[in-house]
Amino acid sequence: MQAVLGVEWEAFQAALSASPPVSLRANAAKWPGPAQHDGRTPWCPQGYYLAERPVFTLDPLLHAGAYYVQEASSMFVAEALRQTLDLSRPLLALDLAAAPGGKSTLIAGMLSADSFFIANEVIRSRYNILRHNLARWGLPNVAISNHDPGDFAPLAGRFDLVLTDAPCSGEGLFRKDPDAIREWSPQQVNFCAARQRRILADAVRLLAPGGVLIYSTCTYNFEENEENAEWLQAEAGLEYVPLTVPREWGIAESRFGCRFYPHRVRGEGFYLVCFRKPGAKATPDKPKRLPALRLKPTAAKTADIAATWLKRPTEMRLLEDAAGRLSAIPVTAEEAFFTASAALYRIEPILELGEVKQGELIPAPALALSTALSDSIPSVDLDKTQALRYLRKEDPQVPEVPRGWVLARYQNLPLGWMKGLGNRVNNYFPKEWRILMREGGKVKG
Ligand code: SAM
Repeated sequence: MQAVLGVEWEAFQAALSASPPVSLRANAAKWPGPAQHDGRTPWCPQGYYLAERPVFTLDPLLHAGAYYVQEASSMFVAEALRQTLDLSRPLLALDLAAAPGGKSTLIAGMLSADSFFIANEVIRSRYNILRHNLARWGLPNVAISNHDPGDFAPLAGRFDLVLTDAPCSGEGLFRKDPDAIREWSPQQVNFCAARQRRILADAVRLLAPGGVLIYSTCTYNFEENEENAEWLQAEAGLEYVPLTVPREWGIAESRFGCRFYPHRVRGEGFYLVCFRKPGAKATPDKPKRLPALRLKPTAAKTADIAATWLKRPTEMRLLEDAAGRLSAIPVTAEEAFFTASAALYRIEPILELGEVKQGELIPAPALALSTALSDSIPSVDLDKTQALRYLRKEDPQVPEVPRGWVLARYQNLPLGWMKGLGNRVNNYFPKEWRILMREGGKVKG
């Protein structure tokens, strides 16, 4: 780094011992942004710096999907999308390495409503975290999948955007995450670079002609960054797309892509580069015959019951699995979803609706958080203490709850389901999402 940075070396070193800036990205579909902040991120209109770090876990707005806590450099993906794609068009987009979902929630928020976005994560435990974060984000034109990048091969040539935010040696996280320092070694760098190249080779195949590849890491070494970028141009035949960045943003432009150093930007170490696949976009072949799919369109009677919970039911296709669990995808995304489902066996719409039992929908947690939920569902507004009790899966202690299914809300944003039973209320917040932290930051259990 000393050789690369020259006279900037000391400033870089000093930044590594400073505390990292705190930032979050607001969910434009749910929340206008924090009333008090310490400036905006220059490259992402929804990004805000905070003067200090609150205990985010104890803020019900986080659990309502009002914002995502994301370090600021990573939000540059917003500027990369803006400069490389026509975001007013319907696009088919894929995040190949998506968990926990920082960049996926950003992408989902920038695509048009008639676009379709697949967020993929290969590691099962991380897939569940991804599902939680995207369910909270609440946008319905999203599916999540749990596959190795190589499994996407039958979908070659289809995607307008593929983000590959590859697992890396994490040099840019040294001041935030001591584990990143412990795990680093020159062998680890070489191992990561080779793995990234395998993932990138899969990513390149998936691009439609004219499609955009965004490759990013949170590390500084050239093996994992520019050398992989060079390979994308020289061996994989992609066109390098340089981005235009105002000098005052402090981003260092290298021979391929953009570098983020903590002494120059208010953010962590980060690298991002964009490429385009040459050629004009052709309409990909429709699959001749779809194999038996795990999710099937729901029978009319069940669909009618579930449809009453949706804002615009005619714009949604309702689906059902063999166990009777219902989910929904916008009609505009239906064809792309079925095509993807024919190739991938672990893909599901982010919008789970629940199950119909004895003529009644038992609503799923994701439905409460979705922007597709009907506005006419009964709700109860909780104050912060009640909301935290609700999120801990305790009795929220609300004096009056109407009978039946009711939304628990905080500052007008749904958190989840309760059921009023006359003299008491059942809390349907999912156990696996509940807050374990107590006031003062202590974690129970
Ligand atoms: N994009 C995420 C975000 O912004 O929140 C962070 C992604 S993280 C840098 C890289 C992800 O790649 C991890 O979730 C990791 O589990 C996943 N991963 C690990 N090995 C992989 C592989 N061989 N192929 C694809 N993804 C892999």
